[in-house]
Amino acid sequence: MRIREALAGAAALGVDRLDAHLLLSHLLLKPRTWLLAHDDERLAPPVAGDWAARLARRAAGEPLAYVLGEWCFRGLVLHVSPAVLVPRPETELLVDWALECLPGVASPDVLDLGTGSGAIALAIAAAATAAAPRIRVHATDNQEGALAVAQGNAVRLGLLVSFTQGDWWAAVPGRQFGLVVSNPPYIAPGDPHLAALTHEPPQALTAPGQGLDALRQIVAGAPPHLLPGAWLLLEHGHDQAAAVQQLFKDSGFLDVQSRNDLAGLSRCTGARWPGVKQFRSSPD
Ligand code: GLN
Repeated sequence: MRIREALAGAAALGVDRLDAHLLLSHLLLKPRTWLLAHDDERLAPPVAGDWAARLARRAAGEPLAYVLGEWCFRGLVLHVSPAVLVPRPETELLVDWALECLPGVASPDVLDLGTGSGAIALAIAAAATAAAPRIRVHATDNQEGALAVAQGNAVRLGLLVSFTQGDWWAAVPGRQFGLVVSNPPYIAPGDPHLAALTHEPPQALTAPGQGLDALRQIVAGAPPHLLPGAWLLLEHGHDQAAAVQQLFKDSGFLDVQSRNDLAGLSRCTGARWPGVKQFRSSPD
């Protein structure tokens, strides 16, 4: 089979032209432009077999990230599998915000709760290495399969992140942090958006209580794990900012604020745990 025929076959299966190009250039280890200039070349039989198998997966609706086995997040190439959520561009905003907070935090200990592929923790570790060399990044997940993916990514990228398994704060007993970030599941069970996300792990996507239960557990359980002045930054659904702000206020956080994603949707909410001085409510 020639490259031209392979690409025509992808179009006939209804596979997006860009996806077909990205898949074939991945298999041939060549840039996209090379494909177009060499569309008369034949695929070697092992490549042709691999192409057919992966093309069928993409045509059946599997996300391109899983079909490729890797995906880019904030300049890092991360291995991904159906054990983890595909990293989304809007989550890069959470990393940007965390990096802005870093210079002012009281401790170099940073935590990513529910790390999945490790995207957030690894992007912070990669970017912070130059800016704040003393930083120590820790990441958790309650799924063994996800932690294996994240750990593999850390090793491959040569980034130092420590990992423990467990549900939210239970994974870090007795530990305190200067900055905590999380992209927890926040889609309500039964939400129509889930129809387009059937290949991704449901435990990484949905939470009961209109999608708010994981966010609620993280905020409510945070205080014993936050140093004075620590930031807690959370990603959430486009219509959950007011509810998440209220969770923070109910738990006694200060500086409660939300940020928009690139589509202009209010996508992250964060707040600061009171510092020692602010925390003393009685006059002395
Ligand atoms: N941002 C994802 C989506 O809406 C959901 C991620 C999550 O639940 N944390 O597709």
